[in-house]
Amino acid sequence: AKHVYFFGGKTAEDTGLDAKGQKELLGGKGANLAEMCRIGIPVPPGFTITTEVCAAYYEQGKKIPEAAVPAIEEALKKVEAAFGGRKLGDPADPLLVSVRSGAALSMPGMMNTILNLGLTDASVEGLAKKTGNPRFAYDSYRRLIDMFGSTAMGCEHEKFEHEIHEMKKAKGVKLDTDLSADDLKELVTRYKAVYKAHVMDDFPQDPKKQLFLAVNAVFNSWNGNKAIEYRRIERITGLRGTAVNVQAMVFGNMGGTSGTGVAFTRDPNTGENVFYGDYLINAQGEDVVAGIRTPEPIAKLHEDMPKVYEQLVGIRSTLEKHYKEMQDIEFTVQEGVLYMLQTRSGKRTGTAAVRIAVEMVKEGLIDETTAVKRVAPDSLNHLLQPQLDPKSKVEVVAQGIAASPGGASGIVLLSAEAVVAHAEKNPNDSIMLVRKETSPEDVAGMHLAKGILTSTGGKASHAAVVARGWGKPCVVGCEAMKINEEAQTITIAGKTVKAGEFLTINGTTGDVMIGKVPTVAPSMTGDFATLMTWADKGRKLKIRTNADAPADAAKAREFGAEGIGLCRTEHMFFGKDRIAAVREMILATSTDDRKKALAKIEPFQKADFVGIFEAMDGYPVTIRLLDPPLHEFLPQKDNVEGTEDVARQMGVPVSAIRERVDELHEMNPMMGFRGCRLPVVFPEIGDMQVRAIIEAAIEVKKKGKSVLPEIMIPLVGVVEELTMLKKRAIATAEECMTKAGIKVEYQIGTMIELPRAALTADEIAAEAEFFSFGTNDLTQMTFGFSRDDIKGFMPTYLKEKILPVDPFQSIDVKGVGKLIDMGIKLGRESRKAKHGQHLKVGICGEHGGDPDSVVFCHKVGMDYVSCSPFRVPIARLAAAQAAL
Ligand code: PEP
Ligand code: MG
Repeated sequence: AKHVYFFGGKTAEDTGLDAKGQKELLGGKGANLAEMCRIGIPVPPGFTITTEVCAAYYEQGKKIPEAAVPAIEEALKKVEAAFGGRKLGDPADPLLVSVRSGAALSMPGMMNTILNLGLTDASVEGLAKKTGNPRFAYDSYRRLIDMFGSTAMGCEHEKFEHEIHEMKKAKGVKLDTDLSADDLKELVTRYKAVYKAHVMDDFPQDPKKQLFLAVNAVFNSWNGNKAIEYRRIERITGLRGTAVNVQAMVFGNMGGTSGTGVAFTRDPNTGENVFYGDYLINAQGEDVVAGIRTPEPIAKLHEDMPKVYEQLVGIRSTLEKHYKEMQDIEFTVQEGVLYMLQTRSGKRTGTAAVRIAVEMVKEGLIDETTAVKRVAPDSLNHLLQPQLDPKSKVEVVAQGIAASPGGASGIVLLSAEAVVAHAEKNPNDSIMLVRKETSPEDVAGMHLAKGILTSTGGKASHAAVVARGWGKPCVVGCEAMKINEEAQTITIAGKTVKAGEFLTINGTTGDVMIGKVPTVAPSMTGDFATLMTWADKGRKLKIRTNADAPADAAKAREFGAEGIGLCRTEHMFFGKDRIAAVREMILATSTDDRKKALAKIEPFQKADFVGIFEAMDGYPVTIRLLDPPLHEFLPQKDNVEGTEDVARQMGVPVSAIRERVDELHEMNPMMGFRGCRLPVVFPEIGDMQVRAIIEAAIEVKKKGKSVLPEIMIPLVGVVEELTMLKKRAIATAEECMTKAGIKVEYQIGTMIELPRAALTADEIAAEAEFFSFGTNDLTQMTFGFSRDDIKGFMPTYLKEKILPVDPFQSIDVKGVGKLIDMGIKLGRESRKAKHGQHLKVGICGEHGGDPDSVVFCHKVGMDYVSCSPFRVPIARLAAAQAAL
């Protein structure tokens, strides 16, 4: 096989491979450089040493294979010939080259590039003369010694940095650019001394020796710690190695007819089909990035270099037509001649991704399926939330965990009660609820707040889950923030914010800012809506939503939800108009008293269900019976003020509340008296809820709407629990229907959220008409990780790669996934065998809105996923991609 492939002069040596094969052999960068040459785009000549040579290099104990050496020399000659006959490192007029790595998949930062290779004590003089710019020549030389020394020979880059630092100090200047040609010449001498001290040899004055050492260095970097680690994290396997690209250097800093720039073929922020980028006249590539000078917008190049600009515009369209994708390009103009140095598909915001995909279909560049595949589902977040106005300037004072996307500004209030009280008087104020953490007691205040910020907690903490459910911006785990409740202040990064002052969060990034930042609103229209209809054509999974209020249900429908997969009834218990009755029920000491209290709650429940059934007309609605332990509805043990308030409101002695709180206290409430264990012990609670569901369904059906209620029993671990509760639910439902003289179709199913339920899914499916995997609890119970207490160890687990991802965010396929897969198979077989029916299976844990988890759900054959309203479009797109 050939070891080296030449490119330049509008041709490139043919590999005889397809696009994918070329990328594997030449690496992404090499393949694109060759491709640009082939389609007639000007590229400085160069050659690519293949990934196979890299593999051979390792097979032969880190030696460049013998046959490759003449091939490299041969290719170098071609480059010299193609570039005006200048020789590498020629003392009079040197050709200089860059040496860069480039594997089939991009591995940014894996290895440093070596530029200006070919400079020596002799050729640096030639370059100075030829360019008339000694400053530039010596600067290039000292950069080569640094890059070559640290990359190829293992010198410490800091030792070189130390020298330039000392030099600047001695000269009393701030910037590298303030150093004169003589300073830089002196710096070269010092750099060479640093080099010699480390390498025990002089900096090589033979340009070819430099070249081969540089090639070795690139190959070595393939198995450097950084690269190995990167491949492990990104799960990159099966690559043969890195290619090496050796390419003639061109310089954009050779006067007023030279320049350099970076550009995108479309606007990467908005997706608009305009040429977008920056350039600098008389500058090198890194000057554009480093921000030393402010670059000019690309359109202005039309004035500075009209010919070059026209050529660049032509290249822009050639590249897009060829790659059928938005490109990110780099170019340099050397004395009026344009060279392209790189092209690759460009990174973009979600908004831009959608617009570009849809417009490219309309332009006939790609088809609908390609468009659907091109947009990363998570990037849709960008289109679904109010955003901090990108035009505003912000100063980030701290960072927490980005828990629920979107931007929000509001006045700081430190308790949910304070939010409720403030909002009552000032309904138009934007409020930022700031807490150490939140609990179900806080939901009223949370709901009224524009944004939520907590100093503790992770992505599955109460604040995060609730906020995400509402599409409310939320940042959690902002450890840099200290809350002083007594002083009613918070301190972040040494700055103090008083309650009542403005604070801003960006839930998409986790940023926290002091003061107010304006926001802009989202909508699902135009290109976004178009892309979604294309996605729907391909997907197999149905998409439902987790919602417990009619407004959320309606929002989800607008986003394309096809039913409710989880209505958490406990959220309805906290309503101001009924919490007293709920507490009465909890304080009841006899069944009769409990029933009396339940009778007060029932009309509220029924009205809520009517609202939800109406909003979801024609779609199934899964309503889960009460799940959390009862103590969650009472003030916490040490909340003296709260206890007194509740006692006053209920007209009972404080001691009565305190005693009940003590009685209900649990060491481990998540594994305590909750879920189906509640109605097993207090059947009247379940009876009331089932009655409310069926009566609401009857009422809505009477109005001529289509209702499909699904009663879901949580936290079942033993089939007998389900048998008992189902029997009771059927009896209650039948009674309601007989009384009303109307029948409604309903189903009774269960959540699979305990490992034992998954393990005995065959038994459970004999009783259940549907399964909904509650992967929050299933993950918690399978790992034995309390979902609210992972912050102490999860960051370390992720950093140490003990876990590849937070399992509360993306399904742990190996463990939890195995239980799910098994549960589905056992359940489906058993339901079919015993009842001749298809067992409907879905997921309603937070994972239902995570694209990777959606792909998993598709693979294991679920019927639907259910997620927060604001993640519905993301799930739709992920489900389509899973099916394509
Ligand atoms: C779950 O456990 O996955 C679930 C959806 O229920 P909850 O989060 O309310 O416990
Ligand atoms: Mg659960």
